[in-house]
Amino acid sequence: MNGNRKRIVVAGGGFAGLNFLKAVANDNRFEVTLVDRNNYHYFPPLLYQVGMAFIELSNITYPFRRYFQKRRNLRFHLGSVISIDPKVKAVYTTNGNVLHYDYLVIAFGTETNYFGMESVQKNCLALKTINDALKLRNHLLTNVERAINCKDEAEKSRLLNVVIAGGGPTGVEVAGMLGEMVRKIGQKEYPEIPRGSFKIYMIQSGPVLLNNMSKKAQDEAFTVLSHLGVEILLNTRVVGFNDGKVLLNNGQAIPTNALLWTTVIGRELHGLPQSSFGHGRRLLVDEFSKVKGAEDVFALGDISLDLTDPQFPTGHPQLAQVAIQQGKLLAENLKRETGKKWKPFRYKDKGVMAIISKYNAIADLPKGSLKGFSAWFLWLFIHLLPIAGFRNKVDLLFNWAWAFLTNNPTLRVIIQKEEKKDDRHQELGIRH
Ligand SMILES: Cc1cc2nc3c(=O)[nH]c(=O)nc-3n(C[C@H](O)[C@H](O)[C@H](O)COP(=O)(O)OP(=O)(O)OC[C@H]3O[C@@H](n4cnc5c(N)ncnc54)[C@H](O)[C@@H]3O)c2cc1C
Repeated sequence: MNGNRKRIVVAGGGFAGLNFLKAVANDNRFEVTLVDRNNYHYFPPLLYQVGMAFIELSNITYPFRRYFQKRRNLRFHLGSVISIDPKVKAVYTTNGNVLHYDYLVIAFGTETNYFGMESVQKNCLALKTINDALKLRNHLLTNVERAINCKDEAEKSRLLNVVIAGGGPTGVEVAGMLGEMVRKIGQKEYPEIPRGSFKIYMIQSGPVLLNNMSKKAQDEAFTVLSHLGVEILLNTRVVGFNDGKVLLNNGQAIPTNALLWTTVIGRELHGLPQSSFGHGRRLLVDEFSKVKGAEDVFALGDISLDLTDPQFPTGHPQLAQVAIQQGKLLAENLKRETGKKWKPFRYKDKGVMAIISKYNAIADLPKGSLKGFSAWFLWLFIHLLPIAGFRNKVDLLFNWAWAFLTNNPTLRVIIQKEEKKDDRHQELGIRH
């Protein structure tokens, strides 16, 4: 590459990073290196459908190098960013490499927040990455097979209990899909399990589900999930997960082998002063996405916290649209001629939505709320558009049509690493 170009390092190729990259691709003034811990971009809003064996993981992933094929100024570097040194403008990655930059764009999102509860971190299931989604799928399916082989009634019911911590959009969508699966597939596929044996609990610390949505959406989610048999505990917190039981702050203990945890916090990064971080370990940025206390360092998407937007005085919601709009605008600003004024970021709110059951979603849109089939249809359309790659879009559409119409996708396979015979026997409850 040409040494006169500005070197940009982008940490993280999610919604923010990828939209930034698209906008600077083939601009000869920049040579851009993406550092990502995975060699693929993925689409978090549909992780839960992979975790529920509803769609294939290839529907929501796209390899970066394939994406870069005709974008000549983009390079890919596989690795995790662990620290930066703004004084010498260097980024350090887990594989021991040092990347030098003129501009650094931090867009590596969030990680699961266990609030320091080691027992939860050790034993729960998260839903932030593709690995999490596959683990969730394998774990839930294995639990049912174990329950079928289990002679102890208490243990059997423990294996069939699922506890979802967090009544935000992710928790609600998982609960809705699990509830539907129990109803539509439970008896057909697992005749050994008596009706009513699968139990789903939703634990929400606040007084309502979906606390960032309208009352109409909150009420609808509560009604539909309750109707699907989900037991919702409001104003309740998980305080531990020990000895096969989820412990709640009201003293209750729910026996389970599956606790799903959905709360997030900004990813850890070393090398910036403490004053650069705001609440939720997010990086404080100005209206141009520039990180407080560091020169030529920008932060986008979930990891950033911009308190300058008059419409969002406590910061923007951690949503795909915010990340996309920030990524595009930063590229546009960096591309401006020297001396031209930069445009400040002002989020154009496109709304929030969630699927709560088959053919039923809720949507809070700038011009009002929608629920039911029309919201569900809109949800599908909105989530199909940003999927990377034309082939992925077509495949996803086909998978959705098949799965929604038949209630019977064929993806419920347990894929696990080869294990020693004895370990496998023990896991499936087979005694010698
Ligand atoms: C389960 C789930 C469901 C969601 N549903 C919705 C929804 O329905 N609608 C909506 O608008 N939003 C939803 N969100 C939120 C939305 O996904 C985020 O707001 C959005 O992904 C933020 O984009 P981002 O680019 O900041 O980060 P991400 O999209 O999280 O991308 C981060 C990237 O950084 C990479 N990375 C991570 N750590 C490192 C590291 N140390 N070094 C290098 N690379 C790293 C990751 O591999 C990834 O490619 C959901 C999130 C989750 C987890």
